Amino acid sequence: MHELAITQQILEFTLRTARERGAKRVTAIRLRLGPFSGVVPECIQIYLDVLAKDTEAEGAKIETAWEPLRVKCLDCGLESEIDRRHIACPQCGSVRLHRLSGREFLIESLEVES
Ligand SMILES: [Zn+2]
Repeated sequence: MHELAITQQILEFTLRTARERGAKRVTAIRLRLGPFSGVVPECIQIYLDVLAKDTEAEGAKIETAWEPLRVKCLDCGLESEIDRRHIACPQCGSVRLHRLSGREFLIESLEVES
């Protein structure tokens, strides 16, 4: 399960940042994910609940913001942002699309109490 390794990285970063800022508690961890990042926020939450026990991040909630998917149409050449539920070129309707993004995985911000 690669979510376990990802969650460990998130937790390490979160605790380091919280300690640098002198925060007593982390209440939320906001992630920014591409639709093809392969990360399942629900799994990260489950691992975090276990791994963060007895740390400043115990009980922190994972919040997710999804990045749009950028594609280039192989038929008409248009570059656009699409929703992963409607994978087709908005200009010509082609489904022959080259993916330009979608694997983003960032920790956007932390909510802390000091
Ligand atoms: Zn097109």
